[in-house]
Amino acid sequence: MRDNQIEITFSTTRKQKPSVDQLEFGKVFTDHMFVMNYTEGKGWHDPRITPYQPISLEPSAMIFHYGQSVFEGLKAYLTNDEQILLFRPDKNFERLNRSNERLCIPHIEEEFALVALKQLLTIEREWIPTKEGTSLYIRPFIISTDPYLGVAPAKHYQFMIILSPVGSYYKEGINPVKIAVEQQYVRAVVGGTGTAKTGGNYASSLKAQEVADKLGFSQVLWLDGKENKYIEEVGSMNIFFKINGEVITPALNGSILEGVTRGSIIELLKHWNVPVVERKISIDEIYQAAKSGLLEEAFGTGTAAVISPIGEFFWQNEKFVIQDGETGEVTQELYDTLTGIQNGTKPDPFGWSVKVESEVGSFS
Ligand SMILES: *Cc1c(COP(=O)(O)O)cnc(C)c1O
Repeated sequence: MRDNQIEITFSTTRKQKPSVDQLEFGKVFTDHMFVMNYTEGKGWHDPRITPYQPISLEPSAMIFHYGQSVFEGLKAYLTNDEQILLFRPDKNFERLNRSNERLCIPHIEEEFALVALKQLLTIEREWIPTKEGTSLYIRPFIISTDPYLGVAPAKHYQFMIILSPVGSYYKEGINPVKIAVEQQYVRAVVGGTGTAKTGGNYASSLKAQEVADKLGFSQVLWLDGKENKYIEEVGSMNIFFKINGEVITPALNGSILEGVTRGSIIELLKHWNVPVVERKISIDEIYQAAKSGLLEEAFGTGTAAVISPIGEFFWQNEKFVIQDGETGEVTQELYDTLTGIQNGTKPDPFGWSVKVESEVGSFS
């Protein structure tokens, strides 16, 4: 498929854009969306950009019953010189196909998906907020649509991309959060769907999050599903620790989601010659490091918050505070550098930022 096959229907009305000071996360959507369909035997077809609108599905549509769906999350930024930047979008479409593979959903053509996204962004460029810390959040996703109650991979799917202007994840700078180590529920097990970005993983995580919320914690720390011992992730973010000068993150083990932010942080640290390792790490080891004063920093990483410092852990009825609950030095430096690369205010020695050229704007 080539970009000129994307049919465009412009919206006849334009929504009022929210003021940049009042942006929340994922509540407001832009004027247009991208859609294409899959039919077994025919492949992906009818790529189009349409007004953002409700979709119509039969109550028997497979997605409602067995949850065969995948999604992605990335951001677009508008630079001071009015260029649209995406952060490593190829990684997101690659991962979407890995998730597709796990959920028996047909692969999409990654290059074409990126062309479609760029075209949508060109049309919606006025929706990209420019204030520091803001961006346009991008949600590509695929759902199974067949009206059929049998348990089997669907024969029809819909791929969509919707856009939402979002504010800074933190009101004033980055604030360390309190984390409860989850001991009853697990997020994923090896062999399950933990490595795929699929809605079911989130549905099963809600209960633990609800309990933690009530106890005054903002996220849960997930341990492995087998021994309930090794650290996996924090909320829906990957996790890093700095212990005695070395940065450690759990190795990808078949149940951890491979974050694009995680990979970028590892590369940045290597670039700075800061020792960084990926390995198995137990909650007991973190506890011991905290007790002996060697646990210097901890933070979560993900597209939405970019970096979320952790100020306190609660485990087996005991809390341990890191750095007096302040944001660590490396954590802050990583946040400043990564967000600077993403919004174009800092040099990008890795070539991570992808420019959206405006020549695709000539469609009308
Ligand atoms: C999306 C996600 C992450 C973070 O991935 P990024 O690519 O960095 O946004 C981490 N853990 C889970 C469970 C996720 O769904």
